[in-house]
Amino acid sequence: MSLEFELPLFSFIFIALLTAVYFIKKKVPLVENKMYGAILIAALIAAAVDTFVHLVSAYNTLDALNSDYYLVIDYCNKLISTMFVVIFSCLLSYTLLISYKKILKNYKKLFICIMGFTIMFYVATCFTTVEIIEVGSVRNVVGSTITMGYAVVALLIATNIIFTIINFKKGDKRYYAIFIILIMLIVLYILSLIFKGLIIYDVIMALLCYIMYFTIEDPDIKMIEQLNIARDTAEKANEAKTDFLSNMSHEIRTPLNAIVGFSNLLLEDKTIPDSAKEEVKDIVMSADNLLEIVNGILDISKIEANKLEIVNTEYVFSKMCDELVALSIGRLGDKPIEFKTNFDPSIPKVLYGDVSRIKQICVNILTNAIKYTKEGWIEFKISGVIKNNVCRLIISVEDTGIGIKKENIDKLFNKFERLDLEDNITIEGTGLGLAITKKLVELMNGKIVVQSVFGKGSKFTVSIDQRVVNNPTIKLEEAEEPAEKIVAHNKKVLLVDDNKINLKVAERLLESYGIDTESVESGAAALEKIQNGEKYDMILLDDMMPKMSGVETLKKLKEIPGFKIITIALTANALTGMREKYLQDGFDDYLAKPINKDELNKIINKYLND
Ligand code: ADP
Repeated sequence: MSLEFELPLFSFIFIALLTAVYFIKKKVPLVENKMYGAILIAALIAAAVDTFVHLVSAYNTLDALNSDYYLVIDYCNKLISTMFVVIFSCLLSYTLLISYKKILKNYKKLFICIMGFTIMFYVATCFTTVEIIEVGSVRNVVGSTITMGYAVVALLIATNIIFTIINFKKGDKRYYAIFIILIMLIVLYILSLIFKGLIIYDVIMALLCYIMYFTIEDPDIKMIEQLNIARDTAEKANEAKTDFLSNMSHEIRTPLNAIVGFSNLLLEDKTIPDSAKEEVKDIVMSADNLLEIVNGILDISKIEANKLEIVNTEYVFSKMCDELVALSIGRLGDKPIEFKTNFDPSIPKVLYGDVSRIKQICVNILTNAIKYTKEGWIEFKISGVIKNNVCRLIISVEDTGIGIKKENIDKLFNKFERLDLEDNITIEGTGLGLAITKKLVELMNGKIVVQSVFGKGSKFTVSIDQRVVNNPTIKLEEAEEPAEKIVAHNKKVLLVDDNKINLKVAERLLESYGIDTESVESGAAALEKIQNGEKYDMILLDDMMPKMSGVETLKKLKEIPGFKIITIALTANALTGMREKYLQDGFDDYLAKPINKDELNKIINKYLND
């Protein structure tokens, strides 16, 4: 059987099917897809016209073809050559597109270039000729049109090879595919030059389209690529959000430092009337609330960005309980609620875990119990189950408060979700507390469960495993906080902060202890003071300063021979875990802004008390 027109016909049918499948299938709207679509259509036209030419050629004599049918044969071959130019221009554009995606943003211009180039080629073919010859039993087309076509296609392939080599990226499947296609084309090109009667180029074209479909233009590959791009963009946006939030929190803390600092000083001022003091108390409370909100937002964004780390240390269990009880009783105020505690005496004295995060979890559920209970009692209970040097802490907080409706229990841990707002409108909150609590518990591989009867009360139970420390390295009897304010006369402290108001707050706070202060606004100025031999008992050093940070300043200070002054990090960067970081950086201790009076008391007592 002669395959003179059957082969082009099969190729045409094959490409037509491929084109139909490709255009029916859902695609990612990418410019490379458009390019591949153009290649398919051009290949389809070329195969259709070629089939027609071979059909005419099969049923006519050579003479009739070159005389009676000359115009048809001439026009068809010029069209086929032009389509080949379209295909190889698109293939080259494809390589350019995947290699220079950013530069070639405006792909419309690229399409216009291809169209312009194609039209120029077609016009040029009008000045060339076509002739059908017989090689053995096979007829073939020759002439200047065909030679010109070959030359232009060879040029396009050569250019494509150069760009593919220059931009070849290991692991990018598309470059391998282009390479295979280009090699196949070169082989075909050489074969067709040697064997003039070869008519398999339609078949090869069909194969090329097929390979491209499953390698370069595989919709799944495209989809995955799109998803990767989307994921990267989302991750970047999330990182930007976290950065923004932590910067914002820092910015909010700085003015809060002034508000908290000065209002605390006003509270101690004996010349101020009691009526005014009540208002000052409200200022302190509002500032504390604001601080809690800022901390909550910061925590949740850190957790979501997977940036929150669990910092395990040894801690004294009973000390943690005492602090939690003191805080809860303080928050209860004069509400008619009995606060009951029940701590399992079998829990080991020293445990290993992230004590500040466990405290945060307890504070959240305790504060909720206090907030959502009008009267009755609250029970704070911790029991322990010890197995193989691990102590499972079972922490529960039960209240006789408003309770939670059954249908709302599932929503409890959603962030920003607050329930029954009509009833709770007077109770302050952001709806972040339990979302953070749950994430923290999960970070520590623990569990949290809620039992509640609406109108009767609720019980939140958290279980977390902590390692038992048999030979503690920490001191068990840490200096207890002084109840009375200590006085530290004849002491001199150097304050370093780039913010003048912060300096003023710190000066006033320290002066209330009878301490002499000296303030400078940069790390460099602090270094100069020490180098000039000035003597201080302590340095309060802000970390986030322009030019030279607190950490850098400390490093330089430590290089000064004989430098032994107690240096405390003072910073608005008050995330949990920061304390450990600053101690590692070489600071003796850490104070968060806004300066908490009790914390300051502890520091003064520890380092400056006679
Ligand atoms: P919020 O800042 O609103 O307290 P939370 O995430 O801590 O946010 O709590 C979410 C919601 O769960 C609260 O608004 C409240 O409706 C409900 N809730 C939490 N704890 C209790 C409780 N002990 N009793 C009753 N309702 C509670």
